Amino acid sequence: MPVDLLHQTLKTYFGFDFFRPHQEEIIHHVMEGGHALVIMPTGGGKSICYQLPALLKDGFTLVISPLISLMNDQVRSLRANGIISGALHSGTTAEESREIHQHIQKGTLKILYVSPERALTPKFLEFIAPLNVSLIAIDEAHCVSIWGNDFRPEYAQLPGLMQYFPNTPVLALTATADRATQEDIRQQLRLKEPKTYLSSFERPNIHLAVKAGIQRIEQIRDFIKQRKDQPGIIYCLARKTTESIAETLQKYGYKAAAYHAEIDNTTRKKVQEDFQFDRLQIVCATIAFGMGIDKPNIRWIIHYNLPKNIENYYQEIGRSGRDGQPADALMFYSFRDIEVYKEFIEKSEANETFKRVQSEKLERIWEYSQATNCRTNVILNYFGEYRSAGCGHCDHCLHPLQGFDGTRLAQMALSACKRSNQSVGINLLVDVLRGSGRKEIYERGLQHVKTYGAGKDIAWKDWMHYITQMINQGLLEIDYIGHSVLKCTPLSDTVLFDGKQVELHRQTTELEEPVVKRKPKKVRFSEELIDRLEKLCHQLGKEEGLPPYAIFPKGTLREMAEVRPFTVEELSRLNGIGDFKSRKYGQAFVDTIRAFMTDQDIIKKPKGMTYVETLNLYRQGLSIEEIAQKREMAMSTIAMHLARLYEKGEDIDLQQFLYADDVLLARQGWRASGFSEQMSKVKEQVGDSLDYTRLNLALAIVRREKEKGN
Ligand code: ADP
Ligand code: ZN
Repeated sequence: MPVDLLHQTLKTYFGFDFFRPHQEEIIHHVMEGGHALVIMPTGGGKSICYQLPALLKDGFTLVISPLISLMNDQVRSLRANGIISGALHSGTTAEESREIHQHIQKGTLKILYVSPERALTPKFLEFIAPLNVSLIAIDEAHCVSIWGNDFRPEYAQLPGLMQYFPNTPVLALTATADRATQEDIRQQLRLKEPKTYLSSFERPNIHLAVKAGIQRIEQIRDFIKQRKDQPGIIYCLARKTTESIAETLQKYGYKAAAYHAEIDNTTRKKVQEDFQFDRLQIVCATIAFGMGIDKPNIRWIIHYNLPKNIENYYQEIGRSGRDGQPADALMFYSFRDIEVYKEFIEKSEANETFKRVQSEKLERIWEYSQATNCRTNVILNYFGEYRSAGCGHCDHCLHPLQGFDGTRLAQMALSACKRSNQSVGINLLVDVLRGSGRKEIYERGLQHVKTYGAGKDIAWKDWMHYITQMINQGLLEIDYIGHSVLKCTPLSDTVLFDGKQVELHRQTTELEEPVVKRKPKKVRFSEELIDRLEKLCHQLGKEEGLPPYAIFPKGTLREMAEVRPFTVEELSRLNGIGDFKSRKYGQAFVDTIRAFMTDQDIIKKPKGMTYVETLNLYRQGLSIEEIAQKREMAMSTIAMHLARLYEKGEDIDLQQFLYADDVLLARQGWRASGFSEQMSKVKEQVGDSLDYTRLNLALAIVRREKEKGN
């Protein structure tokens, strides 16, 4: 598999210059027919891992996905990149379905999304069995496991579909699978010698903070006051809360709305759309909201209540900052929330194993809320990444609690854990450390452990607190499958034998104020230019019924505003701009950038410095190529200078740079475009017969002709 081909396809179809971590390896692996499990956080770039192979392989790729709105979003964005794809689910119309079948017949379809329910119907199986399926991608693969967060029985039947394609590679993807779930996915889906790719779950642009849930409304008001017009979501546990918060915020003058399962369909759809199109700033929602939303510019997430587990929390905050720009996640906790969840679990009709899994997951999110060290590390450890250096973007990293050297205490605890054969839970471990005379200790012979009683001077609740911190630091882990006993991790030995220092914190009663203000980043680009580019996205989006960011996301606009490309060619080199989009929208953006620069006198209007320089060199008899070299500019830019100068009446012989037919072609093209002001429209008409440099020059001649009334 030539490496260039992968990069070239990435650039041509998706507009990206580089692969993100793991993408390239995964693509290689499936291109060679291997099975794989991919665990990558939301926004990490899972889709490309199957979309790119789909383009390179014969036949089409089948993607199993449980969320209709996400499927539709994906299809929409693939089509925006010129890739033929479709989705079959309960919302697919007969017309759409017919179109998909036609594309399959013609062999042009590259990607087919199917809901699991649809994928398992006998009718679908009969239809798909004889076809050339190049790859099976199973999105949200954690749904196959009861250990996962969102078990769906249909997922467990997917091997029934896969058996029709014994030689087709299978790619299971998820953003949320703790260690037990990862193992279960590999087994349940019967992946053959799968490779597992665990991407870092770190989202460095998201600032994490946790606060006690006291006077939440006041805290929220302060928080959003500092975030004028920035879109955000407030997640709540109860429907009533979503409504009352939305109402309060409306009273304060914010564009806010509630969203939950009992709101009628029309309103729900409207809220979702208004939010997507930035007509609504704040949505107060139960967890039902956001799953189907692919809005990259969400700037903050507030959890009014404790989320029910770390998976949910991380998925929800992961909806913010998908454009890579800074975002804030603020979570409130209260004991009341824990009580409510405990009641939920107690009363639910699920089986005992399921209830136990839920309770344990609840414990972990509670521990997260109580963490005194880096919050990111708690999450990373939870998903199987062990790290102890601070992240630098959470409340504790930015405003550390006062700690003390807890190495000796940690060694005591780790040694006790090891010497009791890693077979005791937290409570029993503390009892060993404090030298308790409990019956169970004697029954299991734990009084012989070397550190038995070594920590008797430390209060029971303090020990609990320290061990929680050690778990959060990745020094110990809880084995949920094995009766929640404590296990050592790869980091344990570094403390026991390599002298690694451990910092612990005393329990504080007072909660420090996380400061949300951050140093403003020095920016070189003008907000006004970004405004203009955003307006253009709105306008183009409106014409095509797409949300503005589907034209270009904010990150790309910033890059444009910083680099200020002068030609479509230069623009197409920016990260995030593929061939399809640069052909379609490039000229409009270049025109906007030029107009801005002219207005700002950054490039002077004709007769301004840059033009004068070009003109002088031209007068000295240099060719366009020579001028471009000398000025270190693109040839098309120099051609543009000369064209504008000529249009303003300068005496320049443009004809010498053109072939005989160029003016004729430009004239015809211009007419066919309805005398459009936009170069891209004319370019569409002339196609490849004129490149931008020559078109620019020839059009100047044609336009001056027209001015003169010829
Ligand atoms: P996930 O499915 O993992 O949540 P997506 O596949 O939707 O994530 O990708 C998230 C965002 O990252 C999308 O906007 C996508 O276009 C972008 N992206 C993916 N791969 C790359 C890459 N190699 N370079 C730049 N952006 C990328
Ligand atoms: Zn941190």
